[in-house]
Amino acid sequence: MRQPFVAGNWKQNGSLSQNKELMSGVINGLDSGLTVKVAVCVPYIYISQISDMVASSKVSLGSQNVSDQESGAFTGEIGCSMLKEFACEYAIVGHSERRAIYGESDDDVAKKFTAAQKGGLIPILCVGELLEERESGQTEVVVERQLSAIINSSGVASLKDSIIAYEPVWAIGTGKTASPDQAQDVHFFIRSVIAKYDESVSQSVQILYGGSVKGSNAKELFSMQDIDGGLIGGASLKSDDFLAICNAAG
Ligand code: PEP
Repeated sequence: MRQPFVAGNWKQNGSLSQNKELMSGVINGLDSGLTVKVAVCVPYIYISQISDMVASSKVSLGSQNVSDQESGAFTGEIGCSMLKEFACEYAIVGHSERRAIYGESDDDVAKKFTAAQKGGLIPILCVGELLEERESGQTEVVVERQLSAIINSSGVASLKDSIIAYEPVWAIGTGKTASPDQAQDVHFFIRSVIAKYDESVSQSVQILYGGSVKGSNAKELFSMQDIDGGLIGGASLKSDDFLAICNAAG
């Protein structure tokens, strides 16, 4: 039985005062009976603030990126040990915005994935196809290539201690959500790729859906057999919207 998981990805949003209001709403509004695990992945600069706020709550903390290096002359980078000092548990790796805007390759993402695990963080690995890739029937090829980069560099067992997020790029921040069936098909495909190497890992790994999830469509998406929750961008910035999605996950 996989535990449902909902993670917010704030991207480059927030301020000290907005964060305070948002997180008070989330922490106080979370129903204590929920089985869902909830995390927020916040900009580096706010890790310290949010770490203090979530310390005695049910909410966990994550970063949106991580260096593939432990420490040293890497200007502008933040490493795992720094994040761990603030009780950070998760790091998003391979978000499509990092791949598209900052040119991160499958190999770069694999290095970050390995570094995160080595440094004691749980990577949230994002995979997903562009619109033109979907339209040309390449979705499975792209997703398998992105997954294989991790399996080839860290081994299939490494996926046991990770979370995968299927995020079709055409659905991120666009208001266009994949239909539950479209998302389920890819989630099932991801498990079948992993099952070629290890059946038990394929069944135990949590796979989140991301791409314009809202309170109004979350329940239908999360009810699909291979969808274990969501990675939430825009709707994680308002406590009521985010809470509605957490409630939909159980
Ligand atoms: C994301 O950034 O990971 C995301 C899914 O964004 P949105 O929910 O806004 O589409």
